Amino acid sequence: MAHRTNLPPTAELQALDAAHHMHPFTHGAGLAEKGARIITSGEGCWLTDSEGHRLLDAMAGLWCVNIGYGRQELVEAAAAQMSELPFYNTFFQTSHVPAIKLAERLASLTPEGLDHVFFASSGSEANDTNLRMVRTYWEMKGEPKRQNVISRWNAYHGSSVGSGSLGGMKGMHAQGGMPIPGIHHIDQPNWWAEGGDMTPEDFGLERARQLEAKIKELGPETVAAFIAEPVQGAGGVIVPPDSYWPEVQRIVDKYGILLIADEVICGFGRTGNWFGSETMGIRPDIMTIAKGLSSGYQPIGGSVVSNEIARVIGGGEFNHGYTYSGHPVACAVALENLRILDEEGIVDRVRDDTGPYLQERFAALTDHPMVGEAKIKGMMGSLALTPDKAARASFAADAGTVGLLCRERCFANDLIMRHVGDRMIVSPPLVISRPEIDTLVERAWKSLDEAMAEAE
Ligand code: PLP
Repeated sequence: MAHRTNLPPTAELQALDAAHHMHPFTHGAGLAEKGARIITSGEGCWLTDSEGHRLLDAMAGLWCVNIGYGRQELVEAAAAQMSELPFYNTFFQTSHVPAIKLAERLASLTPEGLDHVFFASSGSEANDTNLRMVRTYWEMKGEPKRQNVISRWNAYHGSSVGSGSLGGMKGMHAQGGMPIPGIHHIDQPNWWAEGGDMTPEDFGLERARQLEAKIKELGPETVAAFIAEPVQGAGGVIVPPDSYWPEVQRIVDKYGILLIADEVICGFGRTGNWFGSETMGIRPDIMTIAKGLSSGYQPIGGSVVSNEIARVIGGGEFNHGYTYSGHPVACAVALENLRILDEEGIVDRVRDDTGPYLQERFAALTDHPMVGEAKIKGMMGSLALTPDKAARASFAADAGTVGLLCRERCFANDLIMRHVGDRMIVSPPLVISRPEIDTLVERAWKSLDEAMAEAE
């Protein structure tokens, strides 16, 4: 990978960054005090920063660089498409070849009966589309009272007003007037933190049945849809008990409620199948996609919808769209990314080879005195940090600080992991090799040791 050799000094870049660049989900004081870490290049699973450190990226950027960094095929796909047609829109009965080909390719990859795609540039935009689409669907079907959407506390579905309302992050709801009306939340299936004395299976059923209780409370005739990730990602990689999803599927079927599976993280191989819905055995009516669709090389997302929804919506005009819906360069890059995922057998490897190896090595981290549980599906996993394993206790007084300490120790050990409260997250590029997995686990162990020593 070619490096830019004429970088200004790090301190200068950091000062400019702090002076002019507003960062997502970043405390201003930290930025001003310590400055941002500046990433300059990437290759495979490795990043280089402006100080020349090589970091193992166990988060695939933001859960998205599924095929790894530095793939020239995607660069060439973008360049070719930029030369031929850098932009055209898909409004007002126009189309172009990359959008047509990508929609067709997605229809062939997604579960049977989901053959139609509405493009966006991000997961947030796609979930906003979903919110308006499900409500419009029911109106067009002659059931206009079905406007309520049910989601889960601690879910993350994006940062726009619609998708942020669908999400259940209380810290986000506290800013800027969310949630908007008509969105309701039930509890998440996080057995470790919230399961008390129940078995995981009983707890999974109890949490699923909150959905039925909420539907009855609102009135089944007013509920449009339930949205959830097959495996909750940004909420802390919460893998639900096995009893959870079959019960949720039974309930949405019973009341004829649409199921939206947010596959923004779970999609494109992350859980060992093309989609998390397959891994968890669910039958969504809509899937939200983004991130791994282009491995993050271009901003693109979308809603893959059932033939029935497409039929009803197509019976009229859906007054909705983004300038960059089906952006030709993003579509061309996504197509090339899907070709690589498929032809190089990357999804199969996550299911049958490196995925199980990561799971085995990751599970061994529960031998560490501070790790209560290690949960993982395919290549998305989390460690619950605890001061007392037997009691499944959390660091209650200042929840998140031990996680933050641990993340900082990971950085110092040239490993990028993320923390959500006191859960430590991994979601590496799907091309990670066995030796790289060994490095990841060794560095994680060392960082846990150091964080534990510092916390004492
Ligand atoms: N849905 C899920 C499950 C996500 O994890 C995210 C982002 O992390 C989003 C939606 C929002 O996607 P974006 O950041 O592309 O808007």
